[in-house]
Amino acid sequence: MPSKRAVFLDRDGVLSDLVFNKGEGRLSSPVTAGQLRVFPFVAEAVRKIRDELGFMAIVISNQPGVAKRQFTLAELERMNAKIRKALANGGVTLDGEYYCLHHPAALIPKYRVVCDCRKPKPGLLLRAAREKDIDLGKSYFVGDGLMDVKAGRSAGCKTILVGHKTTFLTRVIEEEKSEPDFLVPSLHEVPDLLRSQAPP
Ligand SMILES: [Mg+2]
Ligand SMILES: [Zn+2]
Repeated sequence: MPSKRAVFLDRDGVLSDLVFNKGEGRLSSPVTAGQLRVFPFVAEAVRKIRDELGFMAIVISNQPGVAKRQFTLAELERMNAKIRKALANGGVTLDGEYYCLHHPAALIPKYRVVCDCRKPKPGLLLRAAREKDIDLGKSYFVGDGLMDVKAGRSAGCKTILVGHKTTFLTRVIEEEKSEPDFLVPSLHEVPDLLRSQAPP
């Protein structure tokens, strides 16, 4: 039986802020390390999740930007390094990072596959669980999108959606039939939520 518990963390919108893309008129993931801004509460939240509550903290993220030629693999690594550095400055490290680089419409042929690791599929979660001896039923997935809720749920995790309860979100959740177990404004609130769920 797997013995460990994890809090799986989506990257963009959970650890780091989305960027307003003027061309497309919408919020999207950063494409350079310079654009990437780590939320100020991340290191403290991850430290509580690991050191006070005893969960592993593992990033699970779709990063199709390399496949779409939006940025290079080296730039992706620079972005991820920026997150690691912000955590290190707060005295904490991640227990793992898993990225899906695939996309069905990738411009770079080697990434153009229908994989089983691109969320909403649970492949990355299942792999992390296998490699790190994690009990998915005792674990949580924190994401800012319904793809995260779907991936977490199909892996058997409890799901925490980061967002605000707007009429729009409520409608989309209903349409997509992907009600999260919990809704919180940000990762900042997650440690207290987990603490409140702890068995007495
Ligand atoms: Mg996200
Ligand atoms: Zn994949």
